Amino acid sequence: MIYRLLQTTVIAGVLTLVANQASASMIFNLSNQGSATAQMMAGMAEAGALWSALLHDPITVQIRIQAASLPAGVLGHTDSFYDPYSYTDVRNAMLGDRSSADDFSSASKLQSGSVHSMLINRTANNPNGVVSATPYFDTGLGGPGQAGPENNNTIRMTTANAKALGLSSAHSILLDGIITFSTQNIFDFNRSNGINAAQLDFVGIAAHEIGHMLGFVSGVDVLGGNAAAPGLNDNQLQFVTPLDLFRFSSRSLGAGGGIGVIDWTDDSIDKYFSANGGTTPVATFSNGATYEASHWKYNLGQGIMDPTATAGTLMQISTNDLRAFDVIGFDTAIVPEPSTFVLAALGLLGLGFLVLRKMHRSD
Ligand SMILES: [Zn+2]
Repeated sequence: MIYRLLQTTVIAGVLTLVANQASASMIFNLSNQGSATAQMMAGMAEAGALWSALLHDPITVQIRIQAASLPAGVLGHTDSFYDPYSYTDVRNAMLGDRSSADDFSSASKLQSGSVHSMLINRTANNPNGVVSATPYFDTGLGGPGQAGPENNNTIRMTTANAKALGLSSAHSILLDGIITFSTQNIFDFNRSNGINAAQLDFVGIAAHEIGHMLGFVSGVDVLGGNAAAPGLNDNQLQFVTPLDLFRFSSRSLGAGGGIGVIDWTDDSIDKYFSANGGTTPVATFSNGATYEASHWKYNLGQGIMDPTATAGTLMQISTNDLRAFDVIGFDTAIVPEPSTFVLAALGLLGLGFLVLRKMHRSD
């Protein structure tokens, strides 16, 4: 989800990388649900090219685009398909996907074993009270507030993220998600002459929404829906995402926690992205109180996954954005073009696919 912000902001750390035409690249196969305008489809293609220039995983992402009347202030939102994987398989995939310094430092700090430990709250079986906001450590090994290890041994990721990690077919023709844009006449579709002071950068907004589908999402947004009794027990909340494996706070590293122990709580305490098990903060995540947790904290100029867009501002993919996508399984290094290259199969997708796969609207 992305919202209109009526303030100015500066994006720090903007990348100046130039696409290497000889490298393998990510393909976006875009289909119009029927209500998207030609300008929206062209803008989506341009947004996809921004990511393809920076992420070199040889996968095809299948996106359907539509336009609809959205709540006031909402410019677009993304519905992505998700699949669950074992923590062991995800950790092994991340170890196997290492190519950058961040990949090595982040993957080496992933907790070993078949379960990972986390700071959690809001559970029905919270020892501090039913759906209490007070955090506790959930190791997956049993103890107070632990009904089972299922939330500690399961990682839930977008299907596009699974493609990048090699956990599913790279060029599957199944839909990865649907992006919906507002029908309001508020977008500037042409970036070549800057963004009109009274309009919003459509291509930047489209790139933001694609970012969610690629995996910039947090299960804390689901946990936040467990704040009212009776709620679900810890083991029923199997929504930790790959990005959440790099979500920390000083509390998660403190007494009872440690390096690599994530902070998966829903509260107003800021959490940060770290590529070395929490030792070094890179950027601040949204805590979910004002905007969804599936973002950077708003209006700090940390990157395109800021939950807000400002009129007259060209939105840029930042080094923070790229580092996050790097550690969750995407390849940011320039790699040689493979000798053979398989293009995506084309074709219309029937509704049958929609009911076979779980879809979740998180952003
Ligand atoms: Zn968003």
